[in-house]
Amino acid sequence: MATIEMSSTTKINTGEEYINSLKGRDLKIYLFGEKVEDPTEHPMIRPSINAVAKTYDLAVMAPELASVISPFTGERVSRFLHVCTNVSDLVLQNKMQRKLGQLTGTCFQRCVGMDAFNSLYSVTFEMDEKNGTNYHKRMKAFLTKMHQGNLVVGGAMTDVKGDRSLAPHQQEDQDMFVHITKRTDEGVYISGAKAHQTGCINSHWMVVMPTMRLKEADKNFAIIGAVSVDSKGITYIYGRQSCDTRSMEGGVIDVGNATYGGQEAMVIFDNVFIPNEYIFMDGEFDFAALLVERFTTYHRRSYVCKSGVGDVLIGAAASIADMNGIPKASHIKDKLVEMTHLNETIYGTGIASSYQGYPTKSGAYICDEMLANVCKHHVTKMPYEIGRLAQDLAGGLVATLPSEQDLNHPEIGALLQKYLRGKADVNTEDRMRILRLIENMTLGRNAVGYLTESMHGAGSPQAQRIQIGRSMQLEYKKRLAKIIAGIEIETDKDIVIEELSGYFARVFKI
Ligand SMILES: Cc1cc2nc3c(=O)[nH]c(=O)nc-3n(C[C@H](O)[C@H](O)[C@H](O)COP(=O)(O)OP(=O)(O)OC[C@H]3O[C@@H](n4cnc5c(N)ncnc54)[C@H](O)[C@@H]3O)c2cc1C
Ligand code: SF4
Repeated sequence: MATIEMSSTTKINTGEEYINSLKGRDLKIYLFGEKVEDPTEHPMIRPSINAVAKTYDLAVMAPELASVISPFTGERVSRFLHVCTNVSDLVLQNKMQRKLGQLTGTCFQRCVGMDAFNSLYSVTFEMDEKNGTNYHKRMKAFLTKMHQGNLVVGGAMTDVKGDRSLAPHQQEDQDMFVHITKRTDEGVYISGAKAHQTGCINSHWMVVMPTMRLKEADKNFAIIGAVSVDSKGITYIYGRQSCDTRSMEGGVIDVGNATYGGQEAMVIFDNVFIPNEYIFMDGEFDFAALLVERFTTYHRRSYVCKSGVGDVLIGAAASIADMNGIPKASHIKDKLVEMTHLNETIYGTGIASSYQGYPTKSGAYICDEMLANVCKHHVTKMPYEIGRLAQDLAGGLVATLPSEQDLNHPEIGALLQKYLRGKADVNTEDRMRILRLIENMTLGRNAVGYLTESMHGAGSPQAQRIQIGRSMQLEYKKRLAKIIAGIEIETDKDIVIEELSGYFARVFKI
């Protein structure tokens, strides 16, 4: 358990220190059927590590934006480890996320852990209040440890799920959902697998959580616990991304974004031990739904990250139009305006959700659920349209561009220099780089983060529609209509006083 030792002795402050902290760990990682000995040196993995490192570097560059003074240690720690205690905290999370999206052009992988801490803080408080358990205190002790080391914590929620129509206990193979296999006086053992785990190999710890509402028969699936990523019994199987092997070709142009990338892996737990001090739920199935709802409320507005990534894609689209000599064409300008409008709509709803934040019983602030779901629902659609428009502006070369090796070839290189030129004063290689970036973000490695993660991360589109449907207060809206239409005889004073609840109460709070 090397990570545990490190957390209590060393505090990571910079990106470089963070990268060094990942060296020498004994993780069982498989990629292309082979065990990866040092992920920090693997050309396919390293860009994802650089993206996380940027979260540390931003905290050095802009401490007010990306770090906080820890209430537990009194020292500066990453904002990704902070539990929000006011609206400003929530808003600053979003501003940090947009900035990191702008700086990396990809998923920087730390928000699931941040949103897990924030939701767990209030859920453990309320569990203890109801059941007299001790989870909140344990959770705070764990968080203190994370602050001492300024560590990276991933959030492991999504189970592989098997037959989607069946509850966990109904699955033919119980390992389709992570569950407790054995309880001892010292702790519990868990087995199962979590899918699509963002940044898991780049984390120091993971918080394992249930993925859905549970019933009494699912009691053994109601487990929340923190595990060090190098715990015995964990296997990581690295997820492939489109065009991923380009980073192994040795060049820098064809990858599109040579420095930064995302990371997802399948995490398999084979009787992994969690000691009591790191268990924050054990059998309280009736709190699983609350946890999932709170987590997704935070996490769905965390998708403002995509507006930062969108800024990069809009910049790339505008650049290729410049390079092609058509920046002043009216339809080009209009398409850039449309892309910006869509991008700001994502940001607007996400940050509005944070501005509508309110306190939970624990003192932790949570953002507005309706607007968080609207934000994430926009994210399931708008990046696809922004990507479509970027490809429109890029022209067909985005999909047919010859390779970097051909550009550098002694004989045909000159031909490409000549025939791939746009405006006469634009360097051909620069034009190729921008085209490759657009390819990277709409078809390649970072399309995983910009498009597919936008679709499914924090729940597929239907999950948001269900939540929006639950909170839309149709009865209240029908009364409004009926008063104005003269059907109801109650006064608008009645409706303001009596019916101002739920989402609308938060909208109109003063
Ligand atoms: C790039 C990426 C990164 C991610 N990172 C993380 C992470 O860090 N941590 C984490 O925990 N998770 C992560 N996720 C997981 C994400 O939350 C899930 O992908 C999402 O919840 C959908 O689950 P699924 O992929 O199993 O798809 P499925 O559940 O198989 O969904 C496929 C389709 O089936 C529908 N469907 C599913 N179940 C039912 C049902 N019972 N009835 C009717 N329709 C149904 C869905 O609405 C959807 O349209 C990530 C996902 C991606 C793509
Ligand atoms: S997709 Fe966005 S919200 Fe999720 S971890 Fe990546 S950067 Fe953060």
